[in-house]
Amino acid sequence: LPEYAFIGRSNVGKSSLINMLTNRKGLAMTSAKPGKTMLINHFLINEEWYIVDLPGYGYAKRNQKGQQQIKTIIEDYILERTAMTNLFVLIDCRLSPQQIDLEFIEWLGENNIPFSIVFTKGDKLTKNKLDSNVEAFLNELKKQWEELPPYFITSSEKRMGRDEMLNYIEQINETLKK
Ligand code: GDP
Repeated sequence: LPEYAFIGRSNVGKSSLINMLTNRKGLAMTSAKPGKTMLINHFLINEEWYIVDLPGYGYAKRNQKGQQQIKTIIEDYILERTAMTNLFVLIDCRLSPQQIDLEFIEWLGENNIPFSIVFTKGDKLTKNKLDSNVEAFLNELKKQWEELPPYFITSSEKRMGRDEMLNYIEQINETLKK
């Protein structure tokens, strides 16, 4: 079955986003404590596809060895899972473009990994600020890429972007069935 993986820096809002998408409380744990998701969790959706919850990267409070272990777990999954159909890379819309995210995305490109971007916590900014932050990030990507990846602007708080993401997943699933 196709797998849609979710990744981002700790505290980016990954658990909240997965909760919003699945619409089921208790399926993925929401926590204000960063770095809590340690291993790779799979959630089967409608018997048709999987959400794959990857550990957060760049969590400063982990020691070097811990960070390296997580990095290896993440890279092994991404490089070796043929079932991984798309990787959603989560970006906190409040931040200016971060080196760690840009480098990770560059690594995805070097390895031909299909991905899209999800800007999280969209409710935390005014429309103007949100637009300009999204544009700033996309401008950074344009330095690396001829074509921009698909992207979504979401808010788990306001349930924004849910239909767009689920439609996107549904469309890919339909294509794969043919
Ligand atoms: P994770 O570490 O990436 O899984 O992040 P969480 O989902 O646990 O969220 C981290 C913090 O951000 C929590 O305090 C959430 O309540 C908050 N948060 C997550 N998504 C949103 C959102 O869309 N809007 C707002 N206002 N807060 C959010």
